[in-house]
Amino acid sequence: MLSTGESAAAAIVVGAGPVGLTAALALRSQGIPVRVVEAEPADRARPGSRAIFVHRASLDLLDAASPGLGELLVGNGIRWQTKRTCWRGREVFSRTYPPPDPTRPAPFTSLPQTQIEQHMLERCKAAGVEFHWDSPVTALDVTADGVAVGTGNGDTRHAGYVIAADGANSAVRELLGIDMQGSRSDNSFVIVDIAEDPDDPLPVERVFHYEHPAVDGRHVLLVPFAGGWRVDLQCRRDDDLGAFAGIDGVRRWLPRVVDERYAERISWVSSYRFLQVVADSFIDEHRRVLLAGEAAHLFAPFGARGMNSGIADADAAARAIGAGIDDPATGQLEEFARTRRQAAKYNRDAAGAALAHMQAHGPVLQGKRRLAAAAALAGARAGAWLDRSPYGPRAGPGSTGSKY
Ligand SMILES: Cc1cc2nc3c(=O)[nH]c(=O)nc-3n(C[C@H](O)[C@H](O)[C@H](O)COP(=O)(O)OP(=O)(O)OC[C@H]3O[C@@H](n4cnc5c(N)ncnc54)[C@H](O)[C@@H]3O)c2cc1C
Repeated sequence: MLSTGESAAAAIVVGAGPVGLTAALALRSQGIPVRVVEAEPADRARPGSRAIFVHRASLDLLDAASPGLGELLVGNGIRWQTKRTCWRGREVFSRTYPPPDPTRPAPFTSLPQTQIEQHMLERCKAAGVEFHWDSPVTALDVTADGVAVGTGNGDTRHAGYVIAADGANSAVRELLGIDMQGSRSDNSFVIVDIAEDPDDPLPVERVFHYEHPAVDGRHVLLVPFAGGWRVDLQCRRDDDLGAFAGIDGVRRWLPRVVDERYAERISWVSSYRFLQVVADSFIDEHRRVLLAGEAAHLFAPFGARGMNSGIADADAAARAIGAGIDDPATGQLEEFARTRRQAAKYNRDAAGAALAHMQAHGPVLQGKRRLAAAAALAGARAGAWLDRSPYGPRAGPGSTGSKY
C-alpha cells in the first residue's frame, strides 16, 4: 500500500550516507524523481572517524552530479604538499610538490566525512530530492515491474528501481539474501582524530612511521584534514586493545607521536579490525535493486578506496537506471553490476596488499622492508617503495569505469 498522498517514485535510494546522497544527486541530474529513505533522524550525529580523503576522480563525478560540488569540497578541504616516511624514527623518504596551481584541478582534498555529507545533503535538498528520515527499511518486495520498500514505521513505498546504499550492515542486501565473501585483518588499528591548534598548527604533511620508537615499534600514520589530524596506530596481534584505545591509553601514547598539547584536543577514538569483503552480486535477480558503497563492499581504509569507490558505484548505478528507466533490457543494469563488482574486487585486493605490507606477518616481507630501509638510509632510492606501499597499488585494469 502506498503512503497517504504519495505516488510511486522512479527511484528510491536507501541510506543517506555519502554514497546514497551521491546516488540521489546523480539521479536528479538526469531529471529522475528520487526519494531517500534513511533509518536515522534528520538531526542525527554521525559518530566515529570515517573518510577524509577524496580523490580527483570522485570530485569530477560529484561535479557532474551537482555542478560545483567537487570544487566546493576542495574549497573547504586542505591539501598537503609534502609526504614523508620514517623508519624507526629516521626519514627514509620525503617529497614536496610545487604549490597548488589554481588554474589546474586539485588532485585531492581532505576534510571530514561529516562535512562532505553536509554539503551533499544541502545540494540534494536544492535539487528536489525528497527525504524520509526515521525510516529504517525492514521489508522488500521485488518483482519484474518494480520494488515495494517497507519501513519500520509501517509505511510502504513503491519505485521502479532501488539503490541500496545502507552501509556495512545493509538490510536491503540481507533481505535479498546476497552474501559477502572475504577476510578480516588480524591486527587492530586505533584511529584518533584530533583538533588542530589554530594558534600553533603543525606543518601540513602526511607522515608514515614504520616501527615508531616512541610507541615500542608500532606503525603510526599521521594525515591532516581540514581542522585536524587523523592519527592511526597499528596494534600488534597480541596487544591488549583497551590499553591503546581507551581514552587514558590514548592520552599515554598520543603525546609521544604528535605533541603533548594534542592529548587535550582529542575529538574521536575508534578501533577497527578491517573487513575485506565483496558482495556476491551487485544486483537482484529482477534487475531492480542495485547495491552501492559499503552495502556492496568493505575495504581497509589504506588507499582511501571505501567512499571513493562508493561514489563511483553511485554514479554508475544512477546512469544504469537512467538508461534502463524505460527499458530494463538495455543491458546497462547488468553492465553496472559486472563492472562495479570487478572494481570492488580490484579495490579489495589493492587494500589487502596495503594491509599485508603493513602487517608483514611473514619473514620475506619483513626482510624486504628492512632491506629497503637500510638501502634508503644509505642513500638509495628504495624509500619510494616504503612510502607507497602502505596505500596499495594505484588504479588498475580491474577498476573499470572509474579510477576507483
Ligand atoms: C577509519 C576510517 C577511515 C576512512 N577513510 C576513508 C577515506 O579517507 N576515503 C574514503 O574513500 N573512504 C574512507 N573510509 C570509508 C568510508 O567511511 C565509507 O566507505 C563510507 O562511509 C561508506 O559510505 P556509505 O554511504 O556506503 O555507507 P554509510 O556511510 O555507512 O551510510 C549508510 C547510511 O544508511 C543508513 N542505513 C543503515 N541501515 C538502514 C536501513 N535499514 N534503512 C535505511 N537506512 C539505513 C545509515 O544510517 C547511513 O546513513 C574510511 C573508513 C574508516 C572506518
